[in-house]
Amino acid sequence: MENIQLLLFLQENYNKMDKSYKILKDNPHISMLNKMKEEFNKLKKKYINKKNQLESINKKYCLLNDEIEALKKEVKEDDYILYNKCGNDLKMITTLQRDIEKKNKTIEEKENQAMALLEKEEVITNEIASLGKTLEKIRDEFNSYKENADKAQSKVKEEFERCKNEINVIRNKIPLELLKDFDEIKAQKKVAVALLQKNVCTGCKIKVSAITLDEINKGKEIVHCDNCGRILCKANLKDAE
Ligand SMILES: [Zn+2]
Repeated sequence: MENIQLLLFLQENYNKMDKSYKILKDNPHISMLNKMKEEFNKLKKKYINKKNQLESINKKYCLLNDEIEALKKEVKEDDYILYNKCGNDLKMITTLQRDIEKKNKTIEEKENQAMALLEKEEVITNEIASLGKTLEKIRDEFNSYKENADKAQSKVKEEFERCKNEINVIRNKIPLELLKDFDEIKAQKKVAVALLQKNVCTGCKIKVSAITLDEINKGKEIVHCDNCGRILCKANLKDAE
């Protein structure tokens, strides 16, 4: 391989390595993963809230049931007294009857409340089930996205290492004087080798002078762009070898 081809190859590997480095550093998947995590946590909070709500409804329901049972017991006792202990005491009978009526009304009210709680419980139970399913789905999506992202990043890491090694191999093949030239231009302009296309330097997009063109055509090994100073490489050399 000619030196100019080696230099071009070296430049291409630097470009690839820089690109890989940028992807490794920025990790383009992080923001998506964070978004998913955020959504998951938001829903989880909602899920926990609903669970707490359900628990409090259950407590209320149990309390109401206890109250209803106690009242029913009282009514039963009142009934017993009414039919067995009152004799002809009209005042006692009236008072007891009124009490029983009042208690029965309270029982009915509490039973309605309990029924409403049961309905609410059903709604919340369904909501919890649906939230649970969504949470599971998001978690699965997160895991599979992360797995793919990790795979993609480790591929980029491999590419980065491959370029780094390739760069070492190529550098060892290039004469020191040329390497020094390359490194100096690269330090200044990032890209040290530019292709010449239709007599235009692709580094600075300016047509090279006739003298420069002449040098290239005569086969001078290393020719610099007279405008930007980059090392010029004929486009048709790119695919050679
Ligand atoms: Zn140029």
